[in-house]
Amino acid sequence: MSRLERLVDALEQFYGLLPAPPRDPFRLFVWEVLSAHSTPHKRDAAVAALKRNRALTPDAMWRAPQKKLAESVALAGPYAEQRLRALRTGVEVFRRSPNLAATIRGPLVAARRAIKPLPQLGETGAHRMLLFTADHCVMPVDARVSRVARRLGYGEPHDNFRRQARSVQAALTTELPASIDRYRRAFLYLSHHGTATCTEADPHCAVCPLLKECPEGGKRLQISD
Ligand code: SF4
Repeated sequence: MSRLERLVDALEQFYGLLPAPPRDPFRLFVWEVLSAHSTPHKRDAAVAALKRNRALTPDAMWRAPQKKLAESVALAGPYAEQRLRALRTGVEVFRRSPNLAATIRGPLVAARRAIKPLPQLGETGAHRMLLFTADHCVMPVDARVSRVARRLGYGEPHDNFRRQARSVQAALTTELPASIDRYRRAFLYLSHHGTATCTEADPHCAVCPLLKECPEGGKRLQISD
């Protein structure tokens, strides 16, 4: 078993079972739009309201009364107008391409091309879509995964986030078997760890289950002794 897999095992034991993003491409797109600049709690409230209003398919969202849609989306927090605009554009993309889900599950080049017109996903969101809805072995590296992985010694630092993310992605994937489940699990636990414990400004190294294997944690605790 690789070092990375041992670290992910330790995180799984520490946090227990974590919820995964939706498996349906449209629902995942909505989830991504509502997640940006929000918290998991607020995002989930907005998703639940859309579900209550039966607006979680492209056609249903297209037909949904605007007032109900706006009220649901507002539960995710600020940037409601931008979110509504992104959702409208996404609905049009999905309605224009009824085979989008099948295309995403097909060859990677065509899948990436099909996802591109969807607003607000960026590279990481597109990678989450490929991994969680289409069973492609692609490791999404968001800011949290990048931070945790760098502190654990994976990848190279870079001023350019994209370049750093790619080097982290390359380093992580050399330690993972080509298994969808392993990729999903590694992403979920590293990303959650970046939110819950390995936070940006003040990581809680003293309680971290990875401390013994983490060069950054060792340095930080030495300094604070
Ligand atoms: S020991 Fe500290 S820096 Fe290392 S992974 Fe844990 S919280 Fe992050």
